[in-house]
Amino acid sequence: MRQKIVAGNWKMNKTLEEAKILASEVMAMVADEVKGNVKVVLCVPSPYLVPLKNQLGNSSIKIGAQNCSEHDWGAYTGEVSALMLKSMEIPYVILGHSERRQYFGENGKLLGAKVDKALAAGITPIFCCGEPLEIREAGTHEQLVKQQVEEALFHLSAEALQKVVIAYEPVWAIGTGKTATAQQAQEMHAVIRKQLASKYGEAVANEISILYGGSVNSKNAEELFSCPDVDGGLVGGASLKSREFVDVIKGMK
Ligand code: PEP
Repeated sequence: MRQKIVAGNWKMNKTLEEAKILASEVMAMVADEVKGNVKVVLCVPSPYLVPLKNQLGNSSIKIGAQNCSEHDWGAYTGEVSALMLKSMEIPYVILGHSERRQYFGENGKLLGAKVDKALAAGITPIFCCGEPLEIREAGTHEQLVKQQVEEALFHLSAEALQKVVIAYEPVWAIGTGKTATAQQAQEMHAVIRKQLASKYGEAVANEISILYGGSVNSKNAEELFSCPDVDGGLVGGASLKSREFVDVIKGMK
């Protein structure tokens, strides 16, 4: 279902103690200040999933993981499976973040398998796509992003696709302080939604939440989130400071 979502991606940051403090500050500020129907998700390092989930208790804030394996169980040292996340009652998982694609060689086929595992476990994948700078400069960004979406998602039924959240994250805007303009974000979100409509029909495409990610902060969030096809954000750096993150969330009207 199309929902307004702001998800924080903490990446590999914070000690457990620091993580608990950040989560409790965000929880208190969201309870006091955030009105309306925006869903807030904290995607935290794997070892902190359970302690932070317990800490959040009945709060409206949900916990997410940052990756899962394409396998269920077995001899895959260091990996975490979707079934493990399910057993910990973790409702969201980021898949295909550009850092996973770049540093861990993740590709469309693998990500399609991970999306399947997450969905089979009843976990909402936040599937990331987005082009590097050289592709943007060459003008082939639409083509690449459409290919990323097709490779990882187009084997899904319409029913399954509607359980996926997509995050468009231009790689040149991630962690660089260089944000896509609202116009650039809207253009790409519209391209993705049109692509979904061409395969699944407009009604299905209109049900998919498409988040923007790439140096979102409290100053640019409101303008980005006001675009008709931008349903929220996936937020890295700005999610590591409670005041800044909650101000980003408040940009979602
Ligand atoms: C991200 O990691 O998904 C991200 C968008 O990071 P940042 O907000 O720091 O650019």
